[in-house]
Amino acid sequence: MNQPLIRGWCPGVRRPMRSGDGLILRLRITGGRLVPETARAIADIALRHGNGELDLGRRGGLQLRGVREDGFAALLAEVATLGLLDADAGAEAIRNVVASPLSDLDEAAEGDAFGLAGQLEAALVAEGSLRDLPAKFGFSVDDSGRIGLGAVPADVRLKFVRGGVAISLDGGAPTTRIQPGEAVGAVLRLARAFLDLAPTVDPQPRRMAALVGHIGVEAVFAAAGLEPTDGASPDRSEPPPLVGAFPAHVGVALPFGRLSAGQLRTLADLAASDIRLTPFRAVLLPGVSADALPRLSEAGFITRFDDPLLAVAACPGAPACGSAEIETRSLARRLAALKAARGVWLHISGCEKSCASSVAHAVTLVGRDGGVDVVLDGGPTDPPRHTGLSPEAIESLFRSGTF
Ligand code: SF4
Repeated sequence: MNQPLIRGWCPGVRRPMRSGDGLILRLRITGGRLVPETARAIADIALRHGNGELDLGRRGGLQLRGVREDGFAALLAEVATLGLLDADAGAEAIRNVVASPLSDLDEAAEGDAFGLAGQLEAALVAEGSLRDLPAKFGFSVDDSGRIGLGAVPADVRLKFVRGGVAISLDGGAPTTRIQPGEAVGAVLRLARAFLDLAPTVDPQPRRMAALVGHIGVEAVFAAAGLEPTDGASPDRSEPPPLVGAFPAHVGVALPFGRLSAGQLRTLADLAASDIRLTPFRAVLLPGVSADALPRLSEAGFITRFDDPLLAVAACPGAPACGSAEIETRSLARRLAALKAARGVWLHISGCEKSCASSVAHAVTLVGRDGGVDVVLDGGPTDPPRHTGLSPEAIESLFRSGTF
């Protein structure tokens, strides 16, 4: 294959996406665990074939940016030597599985999320009939430990609980509880149930939450041969702060999820065992102490949990993204400095697609027709309070504090 098969969303390695700064390729790293040698090799590939920039995605995938089409065949060969190239585009597309990042080290964990996530990935790849699932359809495996995955987008969620695994669907309660050994088979049946039931609904849902919204969780469970066992709503809360020094690891965050090849090498140099990629724009280094934080800070990582940048989400925007109506990240840095806050209060989206966040925030700025619209307590497609503002007008609005 010498020419990339380009698609417009959810890129893989075999099927990249074109953006304003070249091709984007997403590496799906099983369990989000990278050994230092692989991390260095990815950094080399990012420099050799791309613009040396990488993004850590909301499902823990690592995206190479600015990749040139003329080096695509060589890049595929190099990724294959790392064991990160799937047999075909369908196989990589279906490996949308996020696992708790410290499952082997967290004393509060109720089970081995890495092991179950690996089994689930292998089963999804082997089940050819599931290649028809929508590109964004995803799964999570939560160990019930310190770092919960409730806030991570997933259509089907597995969560280890005492004596079993709870399964929930995006879109609502209830859950069902089964034995760990039955979990993979149950997820495959739920995925098949989605494919069978979605065409019966008009308009046809593309995600589990939409299907559940039409027919309810119970109907999807029934089609998969499962029975509800618990009526409580699944926990969707954000995890505790991941940045700083902890007893068994250190954690750093990436401003807006962006990482340079040089920073990836720094992580590889400092790693004591492996590097854990998380879906929270943060990276964890097991076995590394607080002594490493000054060097990580110098390298441009966020090392303080109260850094204002942690409270702002912003997509790449212009010029990196061809769909962007506005520049996003320098505006985000300027606005972040104006307010101290816990939790993401500001979301800046270059257009309505909302790549950086799928939930409502106190303030959302969205690029539209070259200007900036301001949405309060909503997302980019909600009705705006102000429309067509310039970045300068936005800054004065923020400084005045009156929206
Ligand atoms: S939300 Fe941002 S990154 Fe996504 S398509 Fe729009 S401008 Fe591009």
